Amino acid sequence: MVNEISIEQDIVKTIRGILGESPLLLHEPYFVGNEWLYLKECLDTRFVSSVGKFVDQFEKQLAEYTGSKYAIAVVNGTAALHIALKLSGVENDDEVIIPSLTFIATANAVSYCGAIPHFVDSEESHLGIDPIALREYLKSMTEFRDGKCINTQTGRVIRAIVPMHTFGHPSKLDELLALAKDFNLELIEDAAESLGSYYYGKHTGTFGKFGTLSFNGNKTITTGGGGALLTQDENLAKLAKHITTTAKLPHRWEYVHDQIGYNYRMPNINAALGCAQLESLPSFLKSKRDLYESYRRGFENLKNVELISEPRHCKSNYWLQTIKLSWEQKNLLDVRNRVLELTNDSGVMTRPVWRLLHSLKPFELCPSMPMVVAKKLEASLINIPSSAHLLPKDE
Ligand SMILES: *Cc1c(COP(=O)(O)O)cnc(C)c1O
Repeated sequence: MVNEISIEQDIVKTIRGILGESPLLLHEPYFVGNEWLYLKECLDTRFVSSVGKFVDQFEKQLAEYTGSKYAIAVVNGTAALHIALKLSGVENDDEVIIPSLTFIATANAVSYCGAIPHFVDSEESHLGIDPIALREYLKSMTEFRDGKCINTQTGRVIRAIVPMHTFGHPSKLDELLALAKDFNLELIEDAAESLGSYYYGKHTGTFGKFGTLSFNGNKTITTGGGGALLTQDENLAKLAKHITTTAKLPHRWEYVHDQIGYNYRMPNINAALGCAQLESLPSFLKSKRDLYESYRRGFENLKNVELISEPRHCKSNYWLQTIKLSWEQKNLLDVRNRVLELTNDSGVMTRPVWRLLHSLKPFELCPSMPMVVAKKLEASLINIPSSAHLLPKDE
């Protein structure tokens, strides 16, 4: 070893310089508003479960905040995706295009419909599906039959595409919407990570047939566990509410269900937490942006490390702050692993991006396009401590 300070030491020093010496987790929830008050109301009134006012209130607040016509609260983000795909017409044996670089839930939800994920590459600037590479790929391997986009290699219908807004950075939605139109695909946004993120001034999750959100414990706001569907279509909104609540026809005492429904409803106690968290969301977003600015100044002069910034014409929620190791370096994966080890050994919690889904056992036989960029992103992206209110108070 030369006497030079290593990249991993540099990174630890930079983060410690900004955030001080206490242990740093990747992403912690904060309860500094009306959480106690609303939860107490649930307990006092005994409305903790499927009945109560907070679910309606949370849905209303969500729709208002995102500018979506309708919002339907459900039990988690995966369930929201499952129902969004199902109500977009994804059926048994269809294929659904999703990025390989996403959390497992995107692929699992496709599988719950009996459909097959078709994994595609990502691009560098937005970290989402690469619309240019995808267009070329689809041109080379699909044909239209009865207006449907057919994968000529498998004979299956490619029904839908699910862009995911990685770490809160909006995907290239204009290009992806155009592509979806040209290949006759339904577009559903996995906006689980992007509450508070905007593409050309419009909230993510409101562009596709559906958008889905997650309020898991590690997301920007949390309901414990929870999710939501966003849609602009009144009929789809009604249907989504109906089949996520066991498809029961309203009646004072009769149990009549008109189709197979799901028990995907969000309990009132979770929605109560959500209402309080939504009130805090603007302050969380501001803290996260301030944290990004501090990291940006800190990482500015580090060699071989780049802090990921929001894409042009986009406003990101900066859910998870991310550094990218320079692709010029030799043995990129080794460097990444050394950074992960030293940071975590030093009480600075960091995480690599997800293992590319097409390489995981449950999905290894699924169709996938060549992963040129996604592989490099996999070897070079590292999430660093990102909670709101991490910065010292007097900053
Ligand atoms: C969090 C997340 C989901 C949904 O997760 P749940 O834990 O089911 O709420 C879906 N997709 C992505 C990309 C996510 O990050």
